[in-house]
Order: sequence, then C-alpha cells, then structure tokens
Amino acid sequence: MENLKDCFQKLKDSGLKVTPQRLAIVKILEGNTCHPSADKIYNEVKKKYPMISFATVYKTLKVLAEIGEIQQLKIVEKKVNFDPNTDPHNHFFCKKCREIRDVFPGKKINLKEIDGHLIEKYQVYFYGICSKCRKQN
Ligand SMILES: [Zn+2]
Ligand SMILES: [Zn+2]
Repeated sequence: MENLKDCFQKLKDSGLKVTPQRLAIVKILEGNTCHPSADKIYNEVKKKYPMISFATVYKTLKVLAEIGEIQQLKIVEKKVNFDPNTDPHNHFFCKKCREIRDVFPGKKINLKEIDGHLIEKYQVYFYGICSKCRKQN
C-alpha cells in the first residue's frame, strides 16, 4: 500500500463500493507495522462504526490482498494477519508475546529465480522468542 488514492481507485475498479467504513479499514492498515489480524482490525473499526459486520471487514481485507495492496501472513496457526508492506520481507513470530515482527536477516534477500522457477513473491517465517522476551528471562 503506497498511496491511499491509488488504493481507493483499485478498490473501486475491483467492484467494491468505497464506503466510509472501508476507508477506515484502509486507514487502520496504512503504515501499520503490527501485522494485525482481521479480528483486531474489526474491533478497531467497530469503535467508530459500531454497525459494521465482521463479514464486511473480512471481505474488504480479502479484496485488498487480491488487488495487491496488502499481503496476508499465515505465520500463526489457524490465523491470518495482514501487512500493508507488500515489499518482500521476512517475519518473526514470538511464541511468548505472540507478536509478529519484521526481520531482516543478513543482506536483503533478493531472489529472482530458483532452479529455473521465476519468483514473483515469497514469504519466510521465523519462529522463536523475541529479543524483548529474552531480556525478561
Ligand atoms: Zn516476545
Ligand atoms: Zn511485515
């Protein structure tokens, strides 16, 4: 997600009505580095639009992912988290605080091709205990 105006236009092009509720969802995601789940986004939007349904929030997130404005992370079992940063980057999940963080191991990985397969996108998940939780022990 680089530009809100482009994002709204793409939503319209995909046939979704751009309502104030949907704008609110996009705004929650813009610049968000916490990788929120659909539940978290739903609870956040509900504060301003109490009548919004979870289905509406979920549908909007699915469409945003389909049009490439956000990416879906399947790092937590049985959960989907969303990331407005669609540049290829890697994620770390802490089993203690259950936070998902961006990690940049070594040099930025820049894969274009593996064994003749063209790479268009990729996600690498790392699991363990984050630096904050390690300090608490
Ligand atoms: Zn942690
Ligand atoms: Zn991320």
